[in-house]
Amino acid sequence: MNKIPMKTPLVEMDGDEMTRVLWQWIKEILILPYVDLKTVYFDLGLPERDRTDDKVTLEAARAAKEYGVAVKCATITPNAQRVEEYHLKRMYPSPNATLRAALDGTVFRAPVLVRGITPYIPTWTKPITIARHAYGDVYKSVECQPQKGQQVFLTVEEGGKTAQKLPVFDFSEGAGVVMGMHNTDKSIRSFARSCFNFALSSGQDLWFAAKDTISKQYDHRFKDLFAEIFEAEYREKFERAGIEYMYTLIDDAVARVVRSEGGFIWACKNYDGDVMSDMVATAYGSLAMMTSVLVSPEGAFEYEAAHGTVTRHYYRYLKGETTSTNSVATLFAWTGALKKRGELDGLPALSDFAGRLEKACLSVIEGGVMTKDLVGLFRAEGVVPKAVDSRSFLEAVAAAL
Ligand code: NAP
Ligand code: MG
Repeated sequence: MNKIPMKTPLVEMDGDEMTRVLWQWIKEILILPYVDLKTVYFDLGLPERDRTDDKVTLEAARAAKEYGVAVKCATITPNAQRVEEYHLKRMYPSPNATLRAALDGTVFRAPVLVRGITPYIPTWTKPITIARHAYGDVYKSVECQPQKGQQVFLTVEEGGKTAQKLPVFDFSEGAGVVMGMHNTDKSIRSFARSCFNFALSSGQDLWFAAKDTISKQYDHRFKDLFAEIFEAEYREKFERAGIEYMYTLIDDAVARVVRSEGGFIWACKNYDGDVMSDMVATAYGSLAMMTSVLVSPEGAFEYEAAHGTVTRHYYRYLKGETTSTNSVATLFAWTGALKKRGELDGLPALSDFAGRLEKACLSVIEGGVMTKDLVGLFRAEGVVPKAVDSRSFLEAVAAAL
């Protein structure tokens, strides 16, 4: 068989620990035999980040912007213990945070659905994709515990002139707590554009929800900016694509989500996205089956698994033990990126291959062959699930392919 050709290379970001091992195996067993793979390779593994003073992460981000489609392996975000373990020069920031900031992007998380693994909400027959605004609000807030006196918000203009003074609360009756949080029109606009672009690119409806009835300035600004950008730039494109944009109150959204069958994108403010993505991931079954894609407002895509580097399995692997680590989310990061590349470059054979690879992977699980983490979740009449090790799973997918 001739290998499937590519035009533009993928930006490949390698990573750490067990996922780095899976990364090589996925390429070796499922991609390189079939695709004439072209990538621009960046090693975001911790040793290389340390050697380059983390410049490699910035270079990878620049390449993702330039080429438009990237695929990333999970990476370690160093803490004090990792600084010791890897003898690091310093405690580097999370590569994902660096990439998000450089691309000004929004993260979309969606579960991989498989027959046999039923969500806790049985009507969810299609994936629900959560888009979390990853800037500001409570994550960049200023807090204090006033013991007494008036708490106010002051707006100080250039030159030191007080332009506005808003009383928050009078604590003369006793102590309490205060929080000041912010967001910027620029960040909200980028968030909105990323969401509209992703809805178009995936052909799904977009829901956005906030609490504008209570937060008449803050949340209302989000609602207004989404509406303004939708009218000016996206309404016609959505109509042509046959998809819809809907704004509703966050409480109404929660009720609708629970009653829904899935198959849409739920755009959330930062805190809502933090909470709801854990709820949705758990309800669908397993973190190891969650994929994630970072989308910039200019339309660059970076695909990855939502889980981490699976450290506990890696230590066992280093001792020479076989592990049963789930590679589905990492494999779907590859297929997502190959599909998108095929779509952008007009290479249907490449997109088609990615689709077949996904189907092969799902059919193996549906047939009862899976990694250990899924065995307890799997229920299908007449099929007794069997746990296999990481490599055997990928080989079973190759056989099905
Ligand atoms: P984790 O790697 O997601 O693993 C947590 C646990 O979840 C594992 O120990 C394992 O449970 C289970 N699990 C996760 N993914 C699995 C898979 N593919 N197959 C089977 N089981 C899986 O999270 P963590 O232990 O909190 O973090 C480890 C490292 O990953 C940290 O250094 C962190 O900085 C990094 N991290 C990176 C990213 C990213 O790059 N996007 C995201 C999160 C964390 P059992 O051990 O019980 O089998
Ligand atoms: Mg959370």
